[in-house]
Amino acid sequence: MAKYIGPVCKLCRREGEKLFLKGERCFSPKCSFDKRDYAPGQHGRNMSRRRKRESDYGRQLRAKQRARRVYGVLERQFSRYFKVASQRRGLTGLNLLQILESRLDNVVYRLGFASSRPEARLMVTHGHFIVNGRRTDIPSMLLKDGDELSVREGSRKLTYFKNLGDVVEKRSVPAWLERDAKTLAGKVGRLPERPEIDGSLNEQLIVEYYSR
Ligand code: SF4
Repeated sequence: MAKYIGPVCKLCRREGEKLFLKGERCFSPKCSFDKRDYAPGQHGRNMSRRRKRESDYGRQLRAKQRARRVYGVLERQFSRYFKVASQRRGLTGLNLLQILESRLDNVVYRLGFASSRPEARLMVTHGHFIVNGRRTDIPSMLLKDGDELSVREGSRKLTYFKNLGDVVEKRSVPAWLERDAKTLAGKVGRLPERPEIDGSLNEQLIVEYYSR
């Protein structure tokens, strides 16, 4: 269950756009990207200028890195997902995005139980969730149609979960998921369609990257 442990805001600056990895902070004046929107490091400003005339390979690489960072997946795991996606029926790019969306940490985030994917991941690793009646602490667990998840009974006593019901009501939930804000439970109705997934991800470039 390896994960990236470096500075998160640097990833936004490296990708040249906000990836919203820090929940509420991303919408506040504290957002690092709003203060310095150029790449990190000594030559960051020059790199940001160079980004405008990127090669095909550069654009493919950036599309892949961006998707990896949005979902918090390391290189080896991501290429494994791509392999599985290419073996499934249908469009490889869409299959890949559906795999990423069906990760447990992403589903927790999409249901509004966490303000960002990294926060959702932390909550899962702390064992606060039950999937199909069984406690799990694996954020990369892939959920499928009909899978149900809820907050563990013991965790409901924690202040965070006591107040979560009201917060969750204000967060929207995608049509492919079902949520009960009162009982802090959710269900995967189906896999998401392309329009229901982040439109700024470019799966075509990712497929081209792995097809070189
Ligand atoms: Fe990115 Fe959020 Fe950090 Fe801003 S606060 S740089 S959007 S992770």
